[in-house]
Amino acid sequence: MTLLERSVGVEDLVLLEPLEEKSLLQNLQLRYQNKEIYTYIGNVLISVNPYQQLPIYGPEFIATYRDYTFYEQKPHIYALANMAYQSLRDLDRDQCLLITGESGAGKTEASKLVMSYVAAVCEKGEQVNSVKEQLLQSNPVLEAFGNAKTIRNNNSSRFGKYMDVEFDFKGSPLGGVITNYLLEKSRVVKQLEGERNFHIFYQLLAGADAQLMKALKLEPDVSSYAYLNPKVSRVDGMDDASNFKAVQNAMAVIGFSEEEIRRVLEVTALVLKLGNVKLRDEFQASGVSASGILDGKALQEIGEMVGLNSNDIEKALCSRTMETAKEKVVTALNVIQAHYARDALAKNIYSRLFNWIVNRINDSIKVNTKEEKKVMGVLDIYGFEILEDNSFEQFVINYCNEKLQQVFIEMTLKEEQEEYKREGIPWTKVDYFDNGIICNLIEHNQRGILAMLDEECLRPGVVSDSTFLAKLNQLFSKHSHYESKVTQNAQRQYDHTMGLSCFRICHYAGKVTYSVTSFIDKNNDLLFRDLSQVMWKAQHPLLRSLFPEGDPKQASLKRPPTAGTQFKNSVSILMKNLYAKNPNYIRCIKPNEQQQRGLFSSELVAVQARYLGLLENVRVRRAGYAFRQGYGPFLERYRLLSKSTWPHWNGGDREGVEKLLGELSLSPEEMTYGKTKIFIRSPKTLFFLEEQRRLRL
Ligand code: ADP
Ligand code: MG
Repeated sequence: MTLLERSVGVEDLVLLEPLEEKSLLQNLQLRYQNKEIYTYIGNVLISVNPYQQLPIYGPEFIATYRDYTFYEQKPHIYALANMAYQSLRDLDRDQCLLITGESGAGKTEASKLVMSYVAAVCEKGEQVNSVKEQLLQSNPVLEAFGNAKTIRNNNSSRFGKYMDVEFDFKGSPLGGVITNYLLEKSRVVKQLEGERNFHIFYQLLAGADAQLMKALKLEPDVSSYAYLNPKVSRVDGMDDASNFKAVQNAMAVIGFSEEEIRRVLEVTALVLKLGNVKLRDEFQASGVSASGILDGKALQEIGEMVGLNSNDIEKALCSRTMETAKEKVVTALNVIQAHYARDALAKNIYSRLFNWIVNRINDSIKVNTKEEKKVMGVLDIYGFEILEDNSFEQFVINYCNEKLQQVFIEMTLKEEQEEYKREGIPWTKVDYFDNGIICNLIEHNQRGILAMLDEECLRPGVVSDSTFLAKLNQLFSKHSHYESKVTQNAQRQYDHTMGLSCFRICHYAGKVTYSVTSFIDKNNDLLFRDLSQVMWKAQHPLLRSLFPEGDPKQASLKRPPTAGTQFKNSVSILMKNLYAKNPNYIRCIKPNEQQQRGLFSSELVAVQARYLGLLENVRVRRAGYAFRQGYGPFLERYRLLSKSTWPHWNGGDREGVEKLLGELSLSPEEMTYGKTKIFIRSPKTLFFLEEQRRLRL
């Protein structure tokens, strides 16, 4: 019997023997079935979603983990949080926690566990408690406005989030800054079958009291609203009404005034009503097709709520003004265009409202002191995505993951190198795949795919998704990580899975085929000026502030950066931020598609293990020494292997370890003695030690 079969698998994949995908999966599965959801690769934590409440969290466990160093207890997210927090507080090293994985893998839960751990172990005190409360309460608010039920996850975050928590010299939290990435705004107007819109809409309808409902002129029935899918009005185990109370309360705790909360809900209600603004074909005398309002009720209510003339809104929805230097030309929109304009407006209002909420929270939690701060950053962002149809959104998300992989490899190697240096051990070079070439293909300032896309978006003349694709094909026909029908044909490869309007990128995690349809539109992300101008005219201060470009005085302003450029810039800021900190990794894995406890699908996990580069990670980690541990804890664990006078050893830890390992007659190449740690080269040696230890227990 091997160690693998007998036990609950190895706690650290570095010890895996043989090291291959199959054994790695078996090990995770074995552990999962024994409710051991956490496994290490060195100091990287793998977490497999249990889909059940395990009795391993809460004050008792927090108390256990805070008193031990990393390897002394079973793998746990608290151990990782503890290591990060202690090294922040005691060693003065800024930390970041990078939590990745696909939708439903447990990223957001993991980030909450980390935050609650830190909140529990840091100093108490009135001031600190109120800061802590504000930081923790930002979660329900952001989840209400940014999460939704999807097929994969009942509480799926539809935005990426990075949060810097700032601490004083004692390790007490002072406040923080939240950055959000790419809210999935298309969800506001349309959801897939079986999915819902953002939680807040349902919470509002289910939880608002009669007075608020009346003030907002809302009806409680979900089916009254065209933007809400009536087939899934409720989610199992989720109480929208009580969550609404929790959200209102959380906003108050963070410091939103009563008026601000009401304004936010008014804008939310406005978006719902906008979906009910029905338009119809109208024909002008000239025979040109135009559009008009079919039913004025929703528009009337919107106008009254935000102080706008409903005729003005109608005009903005149904026509478009083109301004040239000399004149203004107004063209009528047909009914399809008008519906498109309406939906574009709804998406824009909602996503700007979301940004406003994030900024508002930041205003409250912002740290005003000039004192030196220590920072812990927590990144909870979508993992690598390969859907059936991949579009602009997947393209930028996968780009971000490509960058994160780059950080990961560089920082892991750097950290290894630094540890060797600290411990006075010679460094041996490790070979690994450098994905810089793929990052460059996407982000290069003049010649990257994003730059090409911008060039097409800003170029005068007829541009379309296909002129964009043609440009890519021309430029990257020889690039080793780019493919398309055209480049394939040129090389006489006939691949029926590739459509004409697609291009494919060979990412570090695998090949992804993107359809260029709507790339131009989504990158442009422009709202017709008529719409922003009318929104800016509203008497409603919040709504108005969301559309600063609607101010006629601002009309000559340059166009805002494209969606792609904005994303690239925020990724670049994020990278700088991460590189400046000591990284801690949590790799989340989804064990099955059914959100079911106890079910482990090897195929599904295999795919994720590849995206996450787990094997590569183990290899890098094992390249020099598979295992290292401080002399004290090592001696503590293995002292019982000694045949001589233990446990009466009272010399130094290092001498103790030397004496112990000498007694066991292990090959001297296997061990290197660092300044504070013992380094062991191969996992076999560690197995031997573990085996001996088990026999003696
Ligand atoms: P992600 O953010 O990666 O999309 P979530 O963190 O929202 O995924 O997790 C999805 C669901 O899985 C949660 O709503 C919860 O039901 C369950 N879950 C995730 N992590 C845990 C955990 N550690 N313990 C219990 N349930 C969990
Ligand atoms: Mg999430």
